Amino acid sequence: MEVRGVIFYLSERGKKLAENLKALLKEVQIFRLESGLISKNWQKDKILIFICASGIVVRKIAPFLKNKLEDPGVLVLNETGEYVIPLLGGHRAKANELAQKIADFLSAKAVVTTASDSLSFTPLDLWIKEKGLILKNPELLPGIMALFNQKGTLRVYREKSVKIPLFKGALEVGKVEEAEVIITNRIIGKPKKQLILIVPNLWLGVGFHENLEEAYLEEAVKKVFEEYQLEEKALKGVTTLDKKAKHQALLNFCVHKKLSLLSFSKEELEKVKALTPSEKVYEAVGLESVSEQAALLASKGALLIPKQVFSGLTIAVAEEDYQLRGKLYIVGTGPGAVDFLTLRALQVLREAEVIVGYQTYLKLLEPLFYNKEVYSFSMTEETERAKKAIEEALKGKKVALVSGGDPGIYGMSGLVLEILTFNRLSLDLEIIPGISALNACSALVGAPLMNDFAVISLSDRLTPWEEIEKRLRSLAQLDIPLVIYNPKSRRRSKQFSKALEILKTVRALDTVVAVVISAMRENQKIYLTTLRDLKEEWVDMHSTLIVGNSQSFFSGNWFITSRGYEKKYSEEYFLKL
Ligand code: SAH
Repeated sequence: MEVRGVIFYLSERGKKLAENLKALLKEVQIFRLESGLISKNWQKDKILIFICASGIVVRKIAPFLKNKLEDPGVLVLNETGEYVIPLLGGHRAKANELAQKIADFLSAKAVVTTASDSLSFTPLDLWIKEKGLILKNPELLPGIMALFNQKGTLRVYREKSVKIPLFKGALEVGKVEEAEVIITNRIIGKPKKQLILIVPNLWLGVGFHENLEEAYLEEAVKKVFEEYQLEEKALKGVTTLDKKAKHQALLNFCVHKKLSLLSFSKEELEKVKALTPSEKVYEAVGLESVSEQAALLASKGALLIPKQVFSGLTIAVAEEDYQLRGKLYIVGTGPGAVDFLTLRALQVLREAEVIVGYQTYLKLLEPLFYNKEVYSFSMTEETERAKKAIEEALKGKKVALVSGGDPGIYGMSGLVLEILTFNRLSLDLEIIPGISALNACSALVGAPLMNDFAVISLSDRLTPWEEIEKRLRSLAQLDIPLVIYNPKSRRRSKQFSKALEILKTVRALDTVVAVVISAMRENQKIYLTTLRDLKEEWVDMHSTLIVGNSQSFFSGNWFITSRGYEKKYSEEYFLKL
């Protein structure tokens, strides 16, 4: 995290905590508390973190206090690292946000005392962030916020396409010149005093020849946006014909500029009337104008820039109505207990307004959700879960769709992406990886997956059993460890018997096996066994199996798959004790 500033400590214990924090705040310097150093670092773009009693801090900083706009952010932590108090600069210097990040990092509590909601005006910086608007001239923000603070109102101009409610205290004006805050997707000269907020609501429609290059596309877009005086930062996404959507230059452009990419079939595009039909395009792809038709379809709005023709490339831009912007997070929550969430997953679950998930996983994390809108579903309702999460995000909410383990491993990510593709929807989406059962289970038993290994699920709900059996036979013959997910369900146990039979015929009967049930949960259970001795009744729907290869063995109660170090380094292995 990029934070510039200083951590002050008083005791050795405080110093240790400061050093610990350095892993999170890489840029900060650490000093023993000294008034001279406070004075030297008393700058508005810095953060001063004190690890000592708050009384000491208040007395020490008192001589330097100026005002809300010029003072640095000040935070206090107690020496045991249980509490983080943002003392100054809660909003402007982002001390509140930082306190929460530190608290998440240390599993501490952030003691935030600014009650934004009870203030008579809205903290403008938070409103901007929440609504997904982009600051064109952030250097003006503190001044505009001070003005707002003073007057209690701000004059705001916004484009007609912006369909979000304005903040409390905003007075809407009809002319750009009269405004103190401008919400737009256009280039507005170089105003010295007006805060410009860019609305990302433009869709770029493109049609192109195979030889398109990224730099050429980038140049063309820049030129067109300049000519039509539109902000490039207002671009939300790029859209084209399905069969063009895999073009390397287009993919690079979208990934590098972090733009959505939405494509349509010829049949879908045909239904839209182009403004500037072209016979040449019609001959080539049977459409009037791919760029205009795609831009209109993606935006469901109006064309701002009609088709612009470059050599081998056409560009059109359309504007969509800017609605309240939601965000969907697909959060991998690991094997169960809160301790095995990533820091990012914890942050997102704290921030989310809506939580959607499978009841068993939600139960494990219940204490985190006490003040949220929670939608809990039973096991087989994955599609309903995904649809609910997408619908809530489209309403403008921050939604966390919880997926146990890692969401990309027999989890929810694929389903969500497929539903979005099927419905031709673009949504602000972030996938947060989690510790999968294979990571959790292998760590519990030792080092069974040290070399190549394979993963297979025995669930035949979506994959036919014949196919699973074929895959299992092939994998069993490769001499690599196998991780088996979904060995059984409440109604499905025959498949597991069959799988075991296959393994027993292909691999040696004394092959080592670990059965891990409910890893990192209260009722965790582990069996170390062999293919010969494994009892089917040990295994249930919360179990994962790790079947070793010819290099796997038990050392005491550790499961090791040798990677071959001992052959290479046998002498170096020797410890002189
Ligand atoms: N996305 C999940 C897997 C979901 S499929 C992940 O990445 O872990 C469900 C299967 O995962 C279960 O049948 C079981 O085989 C395995 N599994 C999930 N959590 C587990 C846990 N805590 N302990 C053991 N196995 C687990």
